[in-house]
Amino acid sequence: MKPVDMTKLGFPSISIVDDGAPADVTDEHAPVPLKSAGNGTATEGHGNDAKVLIVGSGPAGLTAAIYAARANLEPIVIGGYAPGGQLMITSDVENFPGFPDGIQGPELMQKFREQAERFGTRFVDVDAERVDFSGRPFRVWADKVEFSADSVIVATGASALWLGLDNETRLRGRGVSACATCDGFFFRGKKVAVVGGGDTALEEATFLTRFAREVVLLHRRDRFRGSKIMQDRTLNNPKVSVRWNTEVADVLGDEKVEGLRLRDTVAGGEQDEPMEGLFIAIGYKPNTDIFRDSLDIDDKGYLVVTDETHTKVDGIFIAGDVHDHRYRQAITAAADGCKAAIDAERWLETQDVVEASTTTAG
Ligand code: NAP
Repeated sequence: MKPVDMTKLGFPSISIVDDGAPADVTDEHAPVPLKSAGNGTATEGHGNDAKVLIVGSGPAGLTAAIYAARANLEPIVIGGYAPGGQLMITSDVENFPGFPDGIQGPELMQKFREQAERFGTRFVDVDAERVDFSGRPFRVWADKVEFSADSVIVATGASALWLGLDNETRLRGRGVSACATCDGFFFRGKKVAVVGGGDTALEEATFLTRFAREVVLLHRRDRFRGSKIMQDRTLNNPKVSVRWNTEVADVLGDEKVEGLRLRDTVAGGEQDEPMEGLFIAIGYKPNTDIFRDSLDIDDKGYLVVTDETHTKVDGIFIAGDVHDHRYRQAITAAADGCKAAIDAERWLETQDVVEASTTTAG
Protein backbone atom coordinates (compact mmCIF):
# COMPACT_ATOMS: atom_id res chain seq x y z
CA MET A 1 0.00 0.00 0.00
CA LYS A 2 1.13 3.54 -0.62
CA PRO A 3 0.51 6.55 1.62
CA VAL A 4 -2.09 8.91 0.23
CA ASP A 5 -0.58 11.95 -1.44
CA MET A 6 -3.37 14.46 -0.90
CA THR A 7 -1.61 17.13 -2.92
CA LYS A 8 -1.95 15.02 -6.06
CA LEU A 9 -5.69 15.03 -5.46
CA GLY A 10 -5.79 18.78 -5.16
CA PHE A 11 -6.15 18.71 -1.38
CA PRO A 12 -4.17 21.10 0.78
CA SER A 13 -0.68 19.90 1.51
CA ILE A 14 0.33 19.31 5.09
CA SER A 15 3.96 19.87 5.92
CA ILE A 16 5.36 17.58 8.54
CA VAL A 17 8.75 17.83 10.16
CA ASP A 18 10.06 14.61 11.65
CA ASP A 19 12.39 15.98 14.28
CA GLY A 20 12.41 12.85 16.36
CA ALA A 21 9.96 14.45 18.78
CA PRO A 22 7.17 12.36 20.28
CA ALA A 23 4.61 11.18 17.79
CA ASP A 24 1.58 13.41 17.61
CA VAL A 25 -1.21 12.09 15.49
CA THR A 26 -4.36 13.55 14.11
CA ASP A 27 -7.56 12.82 15.97
CA GLU A 28 -10.11 12.50 13.20
CA HIS A 29 -9.91 10.05 10.36
CA ALA A 30 -11.03 11.99 7.39
CA PRO A 31 -9.60 15.48 7.76
CA VAL A 32 -9.55 16.40 4.08
CA PRO A 33 -12.65 17.60 2.28
CA LEU A 34 -13.66 16.25 -1.09
CA LYS A 35 -13.70 18.84 -3.83
CA SER A 36 -17.18 19.74 -4.96
CA ALA A 37 -18.70 21.91 -7.64
CA GLY A 38 -21.41 23.00 -5.17
CA ASN A 39 -20.88 24.74 -1.87
CA GLY A 40 -21.80 21.64 0.16
CA THR A 41 -23.72 23.60 2.79
CA ALA A 42 -27.25 23.32 4.11
CA THR A 43 -29.48 26.36 3.65
CA GLU A 44 -32.84 27.17 5.14
CA GLY A 45 -35.71 27.62 2.67
CA HIS A 46 -36.12 26.59 -0.96
CA GLY A 47 -34.25 23.77 -2.61
CA ASN A 48 -34.41 21.38 0.30
CA ASP A 49 -37.13 19.16 -1.16
CA ALA A 50 -36.02 16.13 -3.12
CA LYS A 51 -37.56 13.20 -4.90
CA VAL A 52 -34.64 11.16 -3.58
CA LEU A 53 -32.65 12.15 -0.52
CA ILE A 54 -29.52 10.10 0.09
CA VAL A 55 -28.01 10.03 3.56
CA GLY A 56 -24.35 9.03 3.37
CA SER A 57 -21.59 9.60 0.83
CA GLY A 58 -19.48 6.45 0.70
CA PRO A 59 -19.55 4.07 -2.30
CA ALA A 60 -23.19 3.12 -1.58
CA GLY A 61 -24.50 6.68 -1.27
CA LEU A 62 -22.56 8.01 -4.23
CA THR A 63 -23.49 5.14 -6.52
CA ALA A 64 -27.13 5.66 -5.55
CA ALA A 65 -26.62 9.34 -6.40
CA ILE A 66 -25.14 8.54 -9.83
CA TYR A 67 -28.06 6.28 -10.70
CA ALA A 68 -30.72 8.58 -9.28
CA ALA A 69 -29.19 11.62 -10.97
CA ARG A 70 -29.03 9.83 -14.33
CA ALA A 71 -32.72 9.07 -13.89
CA ASN A 72 -33.33 12.83 -13.59
CA LEU A 73 -34.37 12.48 -9.97
CA GLU A 74 -32.08 15.37 -8.92
CA PRO A 75 -30.98 13.73 -5.68
CA ILE A 76 -29.66 15.56 -2.66
CA VAL A 77 -26.86 13.81 -0.76
CA ILE A 78 -26.47 14.59 2.92
CA GLY A 79 -22.82 13.60 2.92
CA GLY A 80 -21.68 14.18 6.49
CA TYR A 81 -19.00 16.51 7.83
CA ALA A 82 -16.37 14.00 6.70
CA PRO A 83 -17.82 12.92 3.34
CA GLY A 84 -16.57 9.94 1.39
CA GLY A 85 -16.91 7.21 3.99
CA GLN A 86 -14.33 4.63 4.97
CA LEU A 87 -12.41 4.78 1.69
CA MET A 88 -11.25 8.24 2.75
CA ILE A 89 -9.02 6.49 5.29
CA THR A 90 -7.85 3.75 2.95
CA SER A 91 -4.69 3.89 0.88
CA ASP A 92 -4.34 1.54 -2.07
CA VAL A 93 -7.60 -0.02 -3.20
CA GLU A 94 -6.46 -3.00 -5.22
CA ASN A 95 -9.69 -4.89 -5.69
CA PHE A 96 -12.05 -2.31 -7.17
CA PRO A 97 -12.59 -3.37 -10.80
CA GLY A 98 -11.41 -0.97 -13.46
CA PHE A 99 -8.20 0.08 -11.72
CA PRO A 100 -5.62 -2.59 -12.61
CA ASP A 101 -2.83 -0.66 -10.88
CA GLY A 102 -4.96 0.12 -7.83
CA ILE A 103 -6.23 3.53 -6.79
CA GLN A 104 -6.05 5.58 -3.61
CA GLY A 105 -9.28 5.47 -1.59
CA PRO A 106 -9.81 9.26 -1.48
CA GLU A 107 -9.12 9.53 -5.21
CA LEU A 108 -11.71 6.87 -5.93
CA MET A 109 -14.29 8.70 -3.83
CA GLN A 110 -13.46 11.96 -5.59
CA LYS A 111 -14.20 10.25 -8.89
CA PHE A 112 -17.49 8.85 -7.57
CA ARG A 113 -18.46 12.32 -6.41
CA GLU A 114 -17.56 14.05 -9.67
CA GLN A 115 -19.59 11.46 -11.55
CA ALA A 116 -22.60 12.06 -9.31
CA GLU A 117 -22.24 15.85 -9.67
CA ARG A 118 -21.97 15.60 -13.44
CA PHE A 119 -25.55 14.39 -13.59
CA GLY A 120 -26.93 16.98 -11.18
CA THR A 121 -26.53 15.63 -7.65
CA ARG A 122 -26.50 18.30 -4.95
CA PHE A 123 -24.21 17.70 -1.97
CA VAL A 124 -24.72 18.96 1.56
CA ASP A 125 -21.64 18.09 3.62
CA VAL A 126 -23.12 18.06 7.10
CA ASP A 127 -24.27 15.24 9.37
CA ALA A 128 -27.91 14.19 9.35
CA GLU A 129 -28.98 14.48 12.98
CA ARG A 130 -32.66 13.51 13.04
CA VAL A 131 -35.23 11.85 10.80
CA ASP A 132 -39.01 11.56 10.74
CA PHE A 133 -40.18 8.69 8.52
CA SER A 134 -43.66 8.51 10.09
CA GLY A 135 -45.40 10.22 7.19
CA ARG A 136 -44.78 11.62 3.73
CA PRO A 137 -42.94 13.58 2.70
CA PHE A 138 -40.17 12.06 4.80
CA ARG A 139 -38.14 14.57 6.76
CA VAL A 140 -34.45 14.71 7.60
CA TRP A 141 -32.71 17.39 9.63
CA ALA A 142 -29.06 18.17 8.95
CA ASP A 143 -27.18 20.97 10.69
CA LYS A 144 -30.63 22.04 11.98
CA VAL A 145 -31.94 22.55 8.43
CA GLU A 146 -35.00 20.53 7.44
CA PHE A 147 -35.04 18.52 4.21
CA SER A 148 -38.09 16.75 2.87
CA ALA A 149 -38.15 13.91 0.39
CA ASP A 150 -40.49 11.57 -1.45
CA SER A 151 -38.01 8.76 -0.88
CA VAL A 152 -34.84 8.32 1.17
CA ILE A 153 -31.85 6.04 0.65
CA VAL A 154 -30.00 5.35 3.89
CA ALA A 155 -26.30 4.71 3.20
CA THR A 156 -24.63 5.91 6.38
CA GLY A 157 -22.06 3.10 6.53
CA ALA A 158 -20.12 2.13 9.60
CA SER A 159 -17.43 3.68 11.84
CA ALA A 160 -14.31 2.27 13.48
CA LEU A 161 -14.70 0.67 16.91
CA TRP A 162 -12.54 1.51 19.93
CA LEU A 163 -11.54 -0.65 22.88
CA GLY A 164 -13.31 1.64 25.35
CA LEU A 165 -10.39 2.23 27.73
CA ASP A 166 -10.23 5.62 29.46
CA ASN A 167 -6.57 6.14 28.58
CA GLU A 168 -7.20 5.09 25.00
CA THR A 169 -9.67 7.98 24.71
CA ARG A 170 -7.42 10.41 26.59
CA LEU A 171 -4.41 9.65 24.37
CA ARG A 172 -6.30 9.61 21.09
CA GLY A 173 -4.37 11.89 18.79
CA ARG A 174 -1.30 11.50 21.02
CA GLY A 175 -0.20 8.10 19.89
CA VAL A 176 -3.56 6.33 19.76
CA SER A 177 -5.20 6.10 16.35
CA ALA A 178 -7.65 4.01 14.35
CA CYS A 179 -6.19 4.94 11.00
CA ALA A 180 -2.72 3.85 9.95
CA THR A 181 -3.19 5.48 6.56
CA CYS A 182 -3.85 8.85 8.17
CA ASP A 183 -1.32 8.69 10.96
CA GLY A 184 1.34 6.11 10.08
CA PHE A 185 3.65 8.79 8.75
CA PHE A 186 4.04 10.22 12.24
CA PHE A 187 5.54 7.00 13.58
CA ARG A 188 8.72 6.87 11.56
CA GLY A 189 11.34 4.79 13.36
CA LYS A 190 9.01 4.01 16.27
CA LYS A 191 7.68 0.85 17.85
CA VAL A 192 3.91 0.58 17.50
CA ALA A 193 1.19 -1.94 18.24
CA VAL A 194 -1.89 -2.86 16.22
CA VAL A 195 -4.90 -4.47 17.91
CA GLY A 196 -7.13 -6.91 16.02
CA GLY A 197 -7.09 -10.09 14.00
CA GLY A 198 -9.17 -9.24 10.94
CA ASP A 199 -8.19 -7.91 7.52
CA THR A 200 -8.09 -4.34 8.79
CA ALA A 201 -5.53 -5.16 11.49
CA LEU A 202 -3.44 -7.21 9.07
CA GLU A 203 -3.54 -4.45 6.48
CA GLU A 204 -2.72 -1.73 9.01
CA ALA A 205 0.18 -3.73 10.46
CA THR A 206 1.71 -4.24 7.02
CA PHE A 207 1.17 -0.62 6.07
CA LEU A 208 2.81 0.64 9.27
CA THR A 209 6.04 -1.23 8.48
CA ARG A 210 6.69 1.51 5.92
CA PHE A 211 7.30 3.88 8.78
CA ALA A 212 7.67 2.10 12.10
CA ARG A 213 10.83 0.20 13.03
CA GLU A 214 8.75 -2.51 14.69
CA VAL A 215 5.07 -3.44 14.55
CA VAL A 216 3.57 -5.68 17.22
CA LEU A 217 0.25 -7.22 16.26
CA LEU A 218 -1.87 -7.96 19.32
CA HIS A 219 -4.67 -10.45 18.92
CA ARG A 220 -6.93 -11.75 21.67
CA ARG A 221 -7.16 -15.26 20.19
CA ASP A 222 -4.71 -17.79 18.73
CA ARG A 223 -5.79 -17.45 15.10
CA PHE A 224 -6.60 -14.63 12.73
CA ARG A 225 -10.00 -13.90 11.28
CA GLY A 226 -8.53 -12.13 8.24
CA SER A 227 -8.02 -13.58 4.76
CA LYS A 228 -5.21 -16.00 3.94
CA ILE A 229 -3.46 -13.66 1.53
CA MET A 230 -3.40 -10.84 4.09
CA GLN A 231 -2.17 -13.22 6.78
CA ASP A 232 0.68 -14.41 4.57
CA ARG A 233 1.64 -10.88 3.65
CA THR A 234 1.71 -9.78 7.27
CA LEU A 235 3.36 -12.84 8.78
CA ASN A 236 6.09 -12.80 6.14
CA ASN A 237 6.98 -9.22 6.95
CA PRO A 238 10.11 -9.27 9.11
CA LYS A 239 9.12 -6.06 10.90
CA VAL A 240 5.86 -7.59 12.21
CA SER A 241 5.68 -9.81 15.27
CA VAL A 242 2.45 -11.34 16.53
CA ARG A 243 1.38 -11.72 20.16
CA TRP A 244 -1.39 -14.27 20.28
CA ASN A 245 -3.90 -14.40 23.14
CA THR A 246 -3.06 -10.86 24.11
CA GLU A 247 -5.28 -7.88 24.83
CA VAL A 248 -4.61 -4.30 25.87
CA ALA A 249 -5.52 -3.80 29.53
CA ASP A 250 -4.38 -0.17 29.62
CA VAL A 251 -2.55 2.50 27.65
CA LEU A 252 0.34 4.06 29.55
CA GLY A 253 1.72 7.59 29.27
CA ASP A 254 0.95 11.12 30.46
CA GLU A 255 1.17 13.33 27.38
CA LYS A 256 1.65 10.61 24.78
CA VAL A 257 1.66 6.85 24.46
CA GLU A 258 4.69 5.43 26.22
CA GLY A 259 3.65 1.86 26.80
CA LEU A 260 0.89 -0.71 27.00
CA ARG A 261 -0.28 -2.95 29.81
CA LEU A 262 -0.85 -6.25 28.07
CA ARG A 263 -3.00 -9.06 29.43
CA ASP A 264 -2.62 -12.73 28.54
CA THR A 265 -6.15 -13.81 27.69
CA VAL A 266 -5.37 -17.47 28.47
CA ALA A 267 -3.01 -17.37 31.47
CA GLY A 268 -4.43 -14.12 32.80
CA GLY A 269 -1.19 -12.33 33.79
CA GLU A 270 -0.39 -8.71 32.91
CA GLN A 271 2.84 -7.03 31.94
CA ASP A 272 3.89 -3.59 30.76
CA GLU A 273 5.71 -3.07 27.49
CA PRO A 274 7.19 0.14 26.09
CA MET A 275 5.29 1.25 22.97
CA GLU A 276 5.16 4.53 21.09
CA GLY A 277 1.92 4.12 19.21
CA LEU A 278 -1.31 2.14 19.33
CA PHE A 279 -3.53 1.47 16.34
CA ILE A 280 -6.97 0.04 16.98
CA ALA A 281 -8.32 -2.12 14.15
CA ILE A 282 -11.09 -4.18 15.72
CA GLY A 283 -13.95 -3.64 13.31
CA TYR A 284 -16.78 -1.23 12.79
CA LYS A 285 -20.07 -0.05 14.21
CA PRO A 286 -22.89 0.67 11.80
CA ASN A 287 -24.06 4.30 11.87
CA THR A 288 -27.69 3.69 12.72
CA ASP A 289 -28.37 5.83 15.80
CA ILE A 290 -30.68 8.33 14.12
CA PHE A 291 -32.77 5.56 12.56
CA ARG A 292 -33.38 3.66 15.79
CA ASP A 293 -36.98 4.87 16.18
CA SER A 294 -37.87 4.57 12.49
CA LEU A 295 -36.34 1.39 11.06
CA ASP A 296 -35.69 -2.16 12.25
CA ILE A 297 -32.21 -2.86 13.63
CA ASP A 298 -30.75 -6.36 14.14
CA ASP A 299 -28.94 -7.67 17.22
CA LYS A 300 -25.56 -6.49 15.87
CA GLY A 301 -26.91 -2.96 15.37
CA TYR A 302 -27.24 -3.15 11.57
CA LEU A 303 -30.34 -1.99 9.69
CA VAL A 304 -32.63 -4.76 8.51
CA VAL A 305 -33.42 -4.91 4.80
CA THR A 306 -36.29 -6.72 3.16
CA ASP A 307 -36.37 -7.64 -0.51
CA GLU A 308 -32.80 -6.44 -1.26
CA THR A 309 -33.01 -2.73 -0.40
CA HIS A 310 -36.46 -2.15 1.08
CA THR A 311 -37.39 -1.46 4.70
CA LYS A 312 -40.56 -1.69 6.73
CA VAL A 313 -41.31 1.88 5.63
CA ASP A 314 -42.40 2.15 1.99
CA GLY A 315 -40.17 4.69 0.29
CA ILE A 316 -37.18 4.25 2.59
CA PHE A 317 -34.34 2.20 1.09
CA ILE A 318 -31.03 0.95 2.48
CA ALA A 319 -27.63 0.49 0.85
CA GLY A 320 -24.14 -0.50 1.91
CA ASP A 321 -22.33 -1.27 5.15
CA VAL A 322 -25.10 0.15 7.32
CA HIS A 323 -26.89 -3.16 6.77
CA ASP A 324 -24.12 -5.42 5.44
CA HIS A 325 -21.97 -7.14 8.01
CA ARG A 326 -21.10 -9.96 5.65
CA TYR A 327 -19.29 -8.48 2.66
CA ARG A 328 -18.49 -4.87 3.62
CA GLN A 329 -16.59 -4.12 0.43
CA ALA A 330 -16.61 -0.94 -1.64
CA ILE A 331 -17.84 -2.89 -4.64
CA THR A 332 -20.71 -4.52 -2.77
CA ALA A 333 -21.68 -1.20 -1.23
CA ALA A 334 -21.64 0.41 -4.67
CA ALA A 335 -23.79 -2.38 -6.08
CA ASP A 336 -26.19 -1.87 -3.20
CA GLY A 337 -26.39 1.84 -3.97
CA CYS A 338 -27.26 1.04 -7.57
CA LYS A 339 -30.00 -1.35 -6.48
CA ALA A 340 -31.43 1.12 -3.96
CA ALA A 341 -31.60 3.90 -6.56
CA ILE A 342 -33.35 1.65 -9.07
CA ASP A 343 -35.78 0.46 -6.39
CA ALA A 344 -36.42 4.04 -5.29
CA GLU A 345 -37.07 5.12 -8.86
CA ARG A 346 -39.47 2.25 -9.47
CA TRP A 347 -41.26 2.94 -6.21
CA LEU A 348 -41.58 6.64 -7.08
CA GLU A 349 -43.16 5.58 -10.36
CA THR A 350 -45.79 3.60 -8.47
CA GLN A 351 -46.50 6.71 -6.41
CA ASP A 352 -46.81 8.85 -9.57
CA VAL A 353 -43.99 11.07 -8.33
CA VAL A 354 -42.08 10.34 -11.54
CA GLU A 355 -43.08 8.96 -14.90
CA ALA A 356 -42.17 5.42 -15.78
CA SER A 357 -38.84 5.27 -17.58
CA THR A 358 -35.86 3.03 -18.18
CA THR A 359 -33.14 5.62 -17.74
CA THR A 360 -31.49 3.82 -14.85
CA ALA A 361 -30.40 0.90 -16.95
CA GLY A 362 -26.63 1.08 -17.45
P1 NAP B 1 -13.44 -7.92 11.64
O1 NAP B 1 -13.26 -8.86 10.50
O2 NAP B 1 -14.73 -7.89 12.36
O3 NAP B 1 -12.28 -8.25 12.68
C1 NAP B 1 -12.21 -7.57 13.90
C2 NAP B 1 -11.06 -8.16 14.69
O4 NAP B 1 -10.90 -7.40 15.90
C3 NAP B 1 -11.30 -9.61 15.08
O5 NAP B 1 -10.12 -10.35 14.93
C4 NAP B 1 -11.71 -9.51 16.55
O6 NAP B 1 -11.28 -10.59 17.32
C5 NAP B 1 -10.97 -8.28 17.01
N1 NAP B 1 -11.70 -7.59 18.08
C6 NAP B 1 -12.99 -7.19 18.09
N2 NAP B 1 -13.28 -6.56 19.24
C7 NAP B 1 -12.16 -6.58 19.97
C8 NAP B 1 -11.82 -6.07 21.24
N3 NAP B 1 -12.70 -5.42 22.00
N4 NAP B 1 -10.58 -6.28 21.69
C9 NAP B 1 -9.66 -6.93 20.94
N5 NAP B 1 -9.91 -7.41 19.72
C10 NAP B 1 -11.14 -7.24 19.24
O7 NAP B 1 -13.18 -6.42 11.21
P2 NAP B 1 -12.16 -5.84 10.11
O8 NAP B 1 -10.85 -6.43 10.20
O9 NAP B 1 -12.27 -4.37 10.29
O10 NAP B 1 -12.80 -6.24 8.72
C11 NAP B 1 -14.16 -5.88 8.43
C12 NAP B 1 -14.51 -6.33 7.02
O11 NAP B 1 -13.82 -5.56 6.07
C13 NAP B 1 -14.15 -7.79 6.76
O12 NAP B 1 -15.13 -8.34 5.95
C14 NAP B 1 -12.87 -7.68 6.01
O13 NAP B 1 -12.62 -8.78 5.15
C15 NAP B 1 -13.07 -6.41 5.21
N6 NAP B 1 -11.79 -5.77 4.91
C16 NAP B 1 -11.24 -6.06 3.69
C17 NAP B 1 -10.02 -5.50 3.37
C18 NAP B 1 -9.43 -5.81 2.01
O14 NAP B 1 -9.97 -6.65 1.31
N7 NAP B 1 -8.37 -5.12 1.60
C19 NAP B 1 -9.33 -4.67 4.25
C20 NAP B 1 -9.92 -4.42 5.50
C21 NAP B 1 -11.15 -4.99 5.81
P3 NAP B 1 -11.91 -12.05 17.12
O15 NAP B 1 -11.30 -12.59 15.87
O16 NAP B 1 -11.49 -12.75 18.35
O17 NAP B 1 -13.39 -11.85 17.04
